[in-house]
Amino acid sequence: MSSFAVFLDRDGTINEDPGYLGDPNLVKLLPGVAEGISELKSKYEFKIIVISNQAGVAKGLITLQQVESVNKKINELLSEQNAGIDVFYYCPYHPLYNNDQEAKCRKPSPYMINKAAAENKIDLSKSYMVGDKATDILCGFNAGVKSILINSQLTTDEINILKKEGKTPNFTTDNFLNAVNFIKQDFNKR
Ligand SMILES: [Mg+2]
Repeated sequence: MSSFAVFLDRDGTINEDPGYLGDPNLVKLLPGVAEGISELKSKYEFKIIVISNQAGVAKGLITLQQVESVNKKINELLSEQNAGIDVFYYCPYHPLYNNDQEAKCRKPSPYMINKAAAENKIDLSKSYMVGDKATDILCGFNAGVKSILINSQLTTDEINILKKEGKTPNFTTDNFLNAVNFIKQDFNKR
């Protein structure tokens, strides 16, 4: 039996993004994230899957172990509020530092979503991608899922990039719980 997923960007969507986050002690969950994930899982049985670019590894700024320890810390913090990420996918490569074959996982490529869908029996027809950057939304478009932009800084940069590409997210908000509410309403409509 297949299930549905909410794919989440990590830095800037789940947790504060200080840039190339490598120290688990610096992990800070953003407001409403634990509560929202908990609701999506318990009431709607969504799989929650992280889809993250971690080019800091390719650039030598952080290690794979640091990426993993930050992921682990995120799940520790979420578990305190009855939430959690089911699976983490991340792309540690960058086209300037790695070959095309390696870097093909990098968002906006749909590679990680497609891989996650195959490995976790996810039905993409009722799945969603949530992120704070234009690349997240484009990744959602490329994978054929609905997309939600969390634009917490209230800047128009990401929105303008998407407008230029002619690819507007299905919903834009400044916080995670609004994104969850959109998903709930949209999911119930179908
Ligand atoms: Mg982000």
